[in-house]
Amino acid sequence: MSRWRGLLVEYGEWLDLRGVDQPVTLLEGNTPLILAERLSERLGATVYLKIEGANPTGSFKDRGMTMAISKAKAAGAQTVVCGSTGNTSAAAAAFAAKAGMACVVLVPEGKIALGKLAQAIMYGAEVVQIRGNFDRALSLAREITQHLPITIVNSINPDRIEGQKTGAYELVDALGHAPDILSIPVGNAGNITAYWRGFTQYHFAGRATSLPKMWGFQAAGAAPIVLGHRVDDPETVATAIRIGNPASWVPALLAIDESHGAIRAVTDDEILSAWSWLAHEEGVFCEPASAASVAGLLKFGVPAETTVVAVLTGNGLKDPDTAVKSASAPVVLDSTIDALMEHLAR
Ligand SMILES: *Cc1c(COP(=O)(O)O)cnc(C)c1O
Repeated sequence: MSRWRGLLVEYGEWLDLRGVDQPVTLLEGNTPLILAERLSERLGATVYLKIEGANPTGSFKDRGMTMAISKAKAAGAQTVVCGSTGNTSAAAAAFAAKAGMACVVLVPEGKIALGKLAQAIMYGAEVVQIRGNFDRALSLAREITQHLPITIVNSINPDRIEGQKTGAYELVDALGHAPDILSIPVGNAGNITAYWRGFTQYHFAGRATSLPKMWGFQAAGAAPIVLGHRVDDPETVATAIRIGNPASWVPALLAIDESHGAIRAVTDDEILSAWSWLAHEEGVFCEPASAASVAGLLKFGVPAETTVVAVLTGNGLKDPDTAVKSASAPVVLDSTIDALMEHLAR
């Protein structure tokens, strides 16, 4: 078997790589697609999980970032900036480090999961906490590029969406066809947009004979697309999708429309219950936002005997606080065999 060379080499012919001769890569992509037996049984369908937490920085954001940083570097940029709920900053910081570039990340104070903050710090980014939410962080990131020679690497940067199309290519290449339904969490709505572009591009080129229905899920407390209006104070335990004014709102609606799909809401309780169920029953620990995709499938059901892929966007280790808080603390025993035997006999 040949060695995986990263997304820009493996899928270069499908991407707009003009100007890039030296990709900046951490060998992202090529993530596992796992058949979820118990979930399939529960839903009466064939359900796969796309494990995006297996990417180098633990989320799908690496797909767009290898592209955005490669392009920025090729264009001579020395510094990049992003506003982030956490994973974009982790990916930007890592790829900037690999490229020898500086990185500034703007995150909402106190609203980013611990693991993500640790990553941005360790990769050497200039981390700035903003007194405000993600939407404010993003607009500041946009604005600073008008004052300083800095390149923005949020998904308003089209290179991000371009790189994220590779998720769809990998699914079709692994399954031999497109799924009937693609289920995906929606925050800034860049990923649902990217997957749809990837599927339609492969379809147009004859690589896939069908197209999936795109099913997006927002958290009920941060569901602007579902509600049809901006949400000024989005609130959800799923911090990666705590977004009130998605940058890719319009293209996401197009994806839904063209694919005869839908964007619907799931509550925090539904998200957390799908999240721990996945870990218990499928052995997959994703982050809370990722579980919105499975929460939606469980809430709304799927047509019988369809093939469904749920995209699990990020790794559970990113958010240890929510995990530890949601469970009871492990028992503590005296270090004797009797105490252990007695405990296990209960
Ligand atoms: C960024 C992110 C999302 C949301 O993706 P969008 O492209 O913003 O819709 C979902 N889950 C995780 C783990 C993320 O990092």
